[in-house]
Amino acid sequence: MLDSKSTIGLIERPGQPRVIPRSAHGISHAQISEHALEVLHRLRQHQFQAHLVGGGVRDLLLGQEPKDFDVVTDATPEQVRQVFRNCRLIGQRFRLAHVYFGREIVEVATFRGSGSAGGSSGARQLRNGMIVRDNLYGTIEEDAWRRDFTINALYYDIADCSLIDYAGGFDDLRAGVLRLIGEPVQRYREDPVRMLRAVRFACKLGFTIEPNTERPLFELGYLLRQVPGARLFDELIKLFHSGYALAVFEKLRHYGLFGYLFPATESCLATEEQGFPITFVNRGLANTDQRIAEDKPVTPAFLYAILSWEPVRRRWESLMAAGMGAHESIQLAISEFNPREQTALIIPKRIALPMREIWSLQPRFGERAGKRPHRLLAHPRFRAAYDFLLLRAEAGEVDPELAEWWTRFQEAGAQERERMTVHPRVAKRGRSRRRAAAHA
Ligand code: ATP
Ligand code: MG
Repeated sequence: MLDSKSTIGLIERPGQPRVIPRSAHGISHAQISEHALEVLHRLRQHQFQAHLVGGGVRDLLLGQEPKDFDVVTDATPEQVRQVFRNCRLIGQRFRLAHVYFGREIVEVATFRGSGSAGGSSGARQLRNGMIVRDNLYGTIEEDAWRRDFTINALYYDIADCSLIDYAGGFDDLRAGVLRLIGEPVQRYREDPVRMLRAVRFACKLGFTIEPNTERPLFELGYLLRQVPGARLFDELIKLFHSGYALAVFEKLRHYGLFGYLFPATESCLATEEQGFPITFVNRGLANTDQRIAEDKPVTPAFLYAILSWEPVRRRWESLMAAGMGAHESIQLAISEFNPREQTALIIPKRIALPMREIWSLQPRFGERAGKRPHRLLAHPRFRAAYDFLLLRAEAGEVDPELAEWWTRFQEAGAQERERMTVHPRVAKRGRSRRRAAAHA
């Protein structure tokens, strides 16, 4: 049922915000992208308010390099479009303006209202307490109370370069505390993705989650089932592809959230065989973090191949134990793997296909004679499948000698490769002929 009038879980505390002057916060224009500055100045010139907010401000205050700069204003998206010719309006759930500067996009949002002042009906819609549409505009103060964490609700005002702090984020930031604004249970109910964001920011920033914000994480994981699979998919990429995937995995498991995202993997982890599955996922994620630290590319297909391998591997093994061949059984195990049942995500085809290929190439590494290794080497997915094999070897799932052989095979020249792939029977025949000749 849609309910457009429900109020959301905020304790609004009307009052004066704390204003931190330029001299006391240390952010300078030199640290802000020139395009974001241009947008801020232009909005001001047109008599609108213009602020930076969110991760950009937070990261600058922490001395980290922001990923992007989000601008907020009292101009409506349509008014923003009138100020900038290079502007497009996007979004259903949140209507936003994108201002284009070549490849760089500066996102401009209009202050969100709380609805308590009686906005246009239907602009905010809730379903089972969850916000499904949110286009109610308001004041900067209302906007601040609607944000997720206090440290994400600091506004950098371009008019005088001060910081505006309604929710106490400046002190929380200095204390290293992650605190939800408002009543935590209700705020998680409105948008369960905030639970994943709590984990993400705690890991990314190394912050402590304030007890009232933390407690519901142990209990409300089931709410993740209501989140559309495509949104979860996007959020998980941010969680696992930001350089701290291993810490995220451990925290998600600590709060019992992982099982709502990857139920099939979680049930394997719960009945772990000599620590093996944990080792495999841990190693895979540590490897992802290391690649990011070294600026090497990472792909969602490889990530999901790691996170969902365990149930597939177990099925593969049990089919082989029942007498089915390695190729046939992996194909069957993969075809039975249904992301919609075994994960809470919707994995797009362009990612599910290469993920399956990484898995289905695994038994082919066992064939080291004749033309087959050459063919496997030429396969477009060879490199990813080989990296996957290395992880399996590290985790004790395959003989490290096999992985080493493939490492050498790639590095070898053509002649050496021929020598390495001589069929054992042919090699034996060659040797006995040489022996016979020596005896003659
Ligand atoms: P980063 O971009 O570094 O991952 P961020 O805090 O900027 O972190 P975004 O997803 O870019 O995260 O969101 C920008 C801002 O929008 C946040 O800082 C927060 O104020 C607000 N916000 C984002 N998602 C939510 C949410 N689910 N509920 C409430 N506020 C949110
Ligand atoms: Mg951001």
